[in-house]
Amino acid sequence: MAKHTVTLIPGDGIGPEITTAMRRVVEATGVDIEWEIADAGEHVMAEYGTPLPDHVIESVRKNKVAIKGPVTTPVGTGFRSVNVALRKALDLYVNMRPAFSIPGTGARYENIDMVIVRENTEDLYAGVEFEQGKPETAELIKFVADHGAGTIRPDSGISLKPISIMGSERIVRYAFEYALANGRKKVTAVHKANILKYSDGLYLDVARKVAAEYEGRVDFEDRIVDMTCMGLVLYPEDFDVLVLPNLYGDIISDLAAGLIGGLGMAPGANIGADCAVFEPVHGSAPKYTGKDMANPTAEILTAVLMLQHLGEHDAAERILAAVKTVLAEGTDVTYDIKRTNTGSTEGAVGTQAYADAIIAKL
Ligand code: NAP
Repeated sequence: MAKHTVTLIPGDGIGPEITTAMRRVVEATGVDIEWEIADAGEHVMAEYGTPLPDHVIESVRKNKVAIKGPVTTPVGTGFRSVNVALRKALDLYVNMRPAFSIPGTGARYENIDMVIVRENTEDLYAGVEFEQGKPETAELIKFVADHGAGTIRPDSGISLKPISIMGSERIVRYAFEYALANGRKKVTAVHKANILKYSDGLYLDVARKVAAEYEGRVDFEDRIVDMTCMGLVLYPEDFDVLVLPNLYGDIISDLAAGLIGGLGMAPGANIGADCAVFEPVHGSAPKYTGKDMANPTAEILTAVLMLQHLGEHDAAERILAAVKTVLAEGTDVTYDIKRTNTGSTEGAVGTQAYADAIIAKL
């Protein structure tokens, strides 16, 4: 029996290509993993009637660890995000996205080293929505007016932004515990509490209470989300661990990915009390599907996070060192890295050739 069994969800778009590259790199370290392949996304709809079949969720529940490629979500119509559904089903309340500079990526900044801790289950992403023109939407609009809470135009669609004490407490506590366990100095809670008094205001109140428990051990500050965006661009070295409600976390983690050279570089993890699902920040980049062009670095660094979680620190460090060497050399790199480094994609290698270059350096 393998030492670890991990659910592997290849996803769609560039997902199958980059997860293949990731798997080859992980296997080349000799780490003992059995992959349980579980497919999710539009391509399984015909067979199972859903993009996220129960057996996929059950596989993650059983193995407790999964790694996935991105899954496409149709815009506006069609099914809701498989990624959001998986996070909800398994109560993966933490979305952890480290952003650290690796020389050779052509990033505009050097020495970036921060961790984004995004709340993953509530806020505007809770999926509580009322469609324009539906009777229940009209009822809600009337309820709001009857309670003197405001006037909503009758032709509106509505998405609710629930933020709870429990949800805020556990995410802020995770950020502080993460900071303590990883030698981080400061936690910044990000919000828009000046405008959204009952949702972000609650979040900030809870964050302050939790922060008081860590006084003297981890520094705390809070910042408004718009000022945070400016601060990240002007003085990214001011940030260490950021903890954010779901929507701001989504946006700011892409901003942080930009600081380190783009989405092709940014790994991530969804963590709950029982299970962890590792996935890169980026999406399925449909236009690159099947072209052997996509950069698998984010997926490979995501595997590094997974290996650390599994206690396979040696394999994790070897992969990280090999990725750094290949990027520093700058020859066998994918189109996006070539483009940021030279302004042209000429001389770029494909997804699998880049993985081969990493394997050669292990
Ligand atoms: P995206 O797939 O992240 O791609 C946006 C752009 O980012 C790409 O066109 C490419 O830019 C660059 N990029 C992303 N990943 C890259 C990689 N591995 N290597 C090189 N460049 C990469 O964002 P999107 O087009 O907004 O989303 C596509 C689909 O993915 C949507 O259906 C969305 O809902 C879904 N999505 C899924 C997840 C998930 O599964 N967790 C997360 C986010 C989005 P250039 O064209 O400039 O090279």
